[in-house]
Amino acid sequence: MSVYFSPVFKLHKAPYRHPEAPDRLDAFMEGVRDTGGEVRETAWREDVWQLIELAHAREYVQSMRALCKREFAEIDGDTYISSGTCDAAALAVSTAVAAVEKRETAAIAARPPGHHAGRFGRALTAPSQGFCIFNTAAIAALYLGEGAVVVDIDVHHGNGTQEVLYDRDLLYISTHQHPNTLYPGTGYPDEVGVGRGEGYNVNIPLPPMLSDDAYREVVDEVIVPVLRQYGPKYIIVSLGWDAHREDPLANMNLTINSYLHAFRALLSLQKPVLFLLEGGYNREVLKRGAAALIHVLNGREPPLERPTVTSEAVYRKFREELATVREHLSKYWRL
Ligand SMILES: [Zn+2]
Repeated sequence: MSVYFSPVFKLHKAPYRHPEAPDRLDAFMEGVRDTGGEVRETAWREDVWQLIELAHAREYVQSMRALCKREFAEIDGDTYISSGTCDAAALAVSTAVAAVEKRETAAIAARPPGHHAGRFGRALTAPSQGFCIFNTAAIAALYLGEGAVVVDIDVHHGNGTQEVLYDRDLLYISTHQHPNTLYPGTGYPDEVGVGRGEGYNVNIPLPPMLSDDAYREVVDEVIVPVLRQYGPKYIIVSLGWDAHREDPLANMNLTINSYLHAFRALLSLQKPVLFLLEGGYNREVLKRGAAALIHVLNGREPPLERPTVTSEAVYRKFREELATVREHLSKYWRL
């Protein structure tokens, strides 16, 4: 198992303090190197601009490339572009598609993140592009076709991925902090997909302050059963570390233990898994998270954090939410 990384991913940068900054990768890669993770060269593909059009409209891609010719531009209040952004975002796509092609289990330590980027940029009703430019996870899933699944465990709903895959019979599963309480404001359980895609969009909104014990139930009672019935041939993980209790941008109470449980559950399906870095804004968590990921992928037992326990009030909300999820999914999946 290897981690793909390139300094090109650090060329996307703002001239002021922004939570989505190049030093996120320094922290992540420190965790990788500390645990002896194998770091590999990224792969550049000449056809990358065509690949990006699998998920994005040509006009959108062209407008991003035009903005990348400037030194710096703001797309909206959250999302910026710098002269290195297009190289970074396109290299992430190239590397993901190359890994998918080889059906390889790997991680890609890239930025900018992608899961909020829709066909034309801003997805669904989101107020911004949420730091994202090109949707690497959606592109990798579309490139792969039948049997592809995106499991999105970033704390934010992957509205871009949902939008792009909504009418496709490719599975998208997302756990995220409840849309009433966090950007981007979508990801309700009744958003199940349309047409050929009906039933293939699985949203599991979680109440703020949900803890490790309840997250484990989500993985075991919903994610794994749906995946087993779907029969994935390749699992793409939108891996955001911002559901961790120490993240500054969200309000969940998870530790790295929850992530470890999810990783093991996904790996237990005996299919190749591609981990794509999305969010996560606490540098220490990124470092510890990367180390934990490498340990698990190398079959070692990583150190656990002190487990968190969901309060009674939050747990009650969670069970209600899970009942709603089951109700909307019962037409399509046995849970
Ligand atoms: Zn996020």
